[in-house]
Amino acid sequence: MAARTQLFLCLKDNYGALLHDPASGATAAIDAPEAAPIEAALKSTCWKLTDILVTHHHHDHTGGIAELKGRHHCRVVAPAGEAAKIPLVDETVREGSKVSVGKIEANILETPGHTAGHISYWFHADKLVFAGDTLFSVGCGRVIEGTPEMMWASLKKLRDLPGDTRIYCGHEYTLANIKFAQTIEPGNRALAARAEEAARQMAAGKPTIPTTIDEEKAANPFLRADVPAVAASVGLAGKPAAQVFAEVRARKNRF
Ligand SMILES: [Zn+2]
Repeated sequence: MAARTQLFLCLKDNYGALLHDPASGATAAIDAPEAAPIEAALKSTCWKLTDILVTHHHHDHTGGIAELKGRHHCRVVAPAGEAAKIPLVDETVREGSKVSVGKIEANILETPGHTAGHISYWFHADKLVFAGDTLFSVGCGRVIEGTPEMMWASLKKLRDLPGDTRIYCGHEYTLANIKFAQTIEPGNRALAARAEEAARQMAAGKPTIPTTIDEEKAANPFLRADVPAVAASVGLAGKPAAQVFAEVRARKNRF
């Protein structure tokens, strides 16, 4: 049976997500920004929380763990490199580890750059990836603890997943991301189509995610640092992709 998902807003612009295995009844929260919206999502779905899968240590992804674990006694899975900064961890994972939610299995991808130990959870059979604050819809996370080279390598790792993989990310930043992306590639038609679609979704009060790897390859400037037109648009024609990525990221920080 296919995995089911439930997406909802937490805090100001964070996304919370539940992943449910109908065969076993197991349910994971991907990150725990705050307890109350996760409890509300559990209530509305009648799912029982068994696991919390943490992508990275930032408080807006971990602030709800203690309260949820106290109530549900769920397992907390976290990146090995950041376990000391995350409360009540039961199990640590790293590149190549597998973690199961009931009968649904995820491969762990280390995707550092935003934080040094950031991981993504790739549920290959269900074609889902939970990318935390590494890859956003038409954007990417700030490079806080790592280097641009490290972040570019992480984004390429995600870009190499099958094109129809659905991407769940940690924040609703899509409209602002599109505005910025249009300054880099004003003539990108896929990006123009995403702008229209996102405006429609936001006007209807709907989330702009999940997106897919193929959609991001076409419109996300941070996944397109090795496209000659992107390099040229930031004055770095012929330069290494990591350098182009660093320049695009620096411009977004100033945008
Ligand atoms: Zn973060």
